[in-house]
Amino acid sequence: MNQEDRNQIQQLQALNDIIQLLLATSLEAALQQIVYMLQSLIPYAQAEIVEYDFETQEIRVLASTAAEPLLLSYENRRLLSFSHQAPCHEWRDVQYIPDLRTLRELSPGQRIFMANGMCTLAAAALCVQDVVLGSFRIASPHPDAFSAAHLRCLQDVAHLVALRLQHETVKQQQKKYTLNLEALVDLRTTELQQLVGKLAEANQLKNEFMAAMSHELRTPLNAIMGKVETLQEEWYGPLTPKQFQAAQVIFDNSQKLLALINNLLDVSHIESDRLSLHIMEVDVITACQEILAWVQRLARAKQIRVSTTLPTTALTMAADEDRFKQILFNLLDNAVKFTPPGGKVGLEVRPDATGKFIEFVVWDTGIGINPDKIDFIFMLFTQVDGRLAREYEGTGLGLPLAYRLTQLHDGQLTVTSEVGKGSRFTVTLPVAFAAVETA
Ligand code: ADP
Repeated sequence: MNQEDRNQIQQLQALNDIIQLLLATSLEAALQQIVYMLQSLIPYAQAEIVEYDFETQEIRVLASTAAEPLLLSYENRRLLSFSHQAPCHEWRDVQYIPDLRTLRELSPGQRIFMANGMCTLAAAALCVQDVVLGSFRIASPHPDAFSAAHLRCLQDVAHLVALRLQHETVKQQQKKYTLNLEALVDLRTTELQQLVGKLAEANQLKNEFMAAMSHELRTPLNAIMGKVETLQEEWYGPLTPKQFQAAQVIFDNSQKLLALINNLLDVSHIESDRLSLHIMEVDVITACQEILAWVQRLARAKQIRVSTTLPTTALTMAADEDRFKQILFNLLDNAVKFTPPGGKVGLEVRPDATGKFIEFVVWDTGIGINPDKIDFIFMLFTQVDGRLAREYEGTGLGLPLAYRLTQLHDGQLTVTSEVGKGSRFTVTLPVAFAAVETA
């Protein structure tokens, strides 16, 4: 093995050590070791690795053999960085100045090295994909101190350092983006929380307003209905048939209005958790028959047949009787409303197999509900046909109320439907209701 081979092996070993160092250690610690390690291969007295900052147009000394880095003085930073702007291809070969004294004009960096007693200067660009990230400079007090092999070695090391530097930059950028992203998510979360708070407040105000309004409307309406009744009972003298009919129209429409106001009041109470149930033992069959008597009147006007399947033996359950009737009435009222004349509606009542629940099935042979709308019908103010000039009257309150009242009874309301064939609403209520009073 000749001297050249030995040198090459030594160089390869040093390069391997440098790679290990760059992979295993923090950037600055690794570079600081490299500027000393390389002295065993290249006879330099001073070395500096600097990084170029594109944003501030300044250079940063990453490692130096000098206790006080040579290139650190501020007034030189910007000027030095200017010389680093050269595109990378011009830097491909190491810039080599065998004797600074022979130069007619010196750059600020060269002047600094010379002022520190240096004579030979070599600089390799830290370059990745044609971008100069910084430079690796070595200097010697002797003229023409570096051979071509030394300069190649410097270039190889500079390339390794550049790759590590780029990796570090990408890591820093990623960290910055992650931090920015986290800050943005935090900001948006706070904004959303504030918004949710404001919405809850607005909703509360709306419910209070609805409750107050409904209450205010109910009082005069009750007075009107009371007076119409006394008129019809002829307390103020006899009525002609036409007068009686007119009074009846006033009464019927007032009743409709009262039902609507009551629904609104109930909704606002449910929304703000202020609806109380008055639980008692309910005679199921009698309650159903009362509701059916009302529904029969509505159905008769549309020539709709009402069929009922009730248990033959007595059946009781713990529930709020008025609310229970309200649930059934809303469902049966809809069944009649959405069934064309000549159709059929029905109510089936049956205890389930366990005896712990009673099922109330309200069915009709009406228009049915579109599958893509069925998920929305239990939401407040939702009507499948939402047009102003729609065919069926209504407010979109009946089903949501029935749904929530069923829930308050720890029960369930479900629906199946087929467009053009009809719908089937099933209310399942527990026979024994656990909560005696809900606030
Ligand atoms: P509305 O006052 O409009 O009847 P509801 O809340 O009771 O309000 O019902 C909401 C919507 O659900 C209705 O507008 C209607 O589109 C649909 N719907 C409810 N019951 C039936 C039914 N038996 N058949 C067909 N559609 C129904």
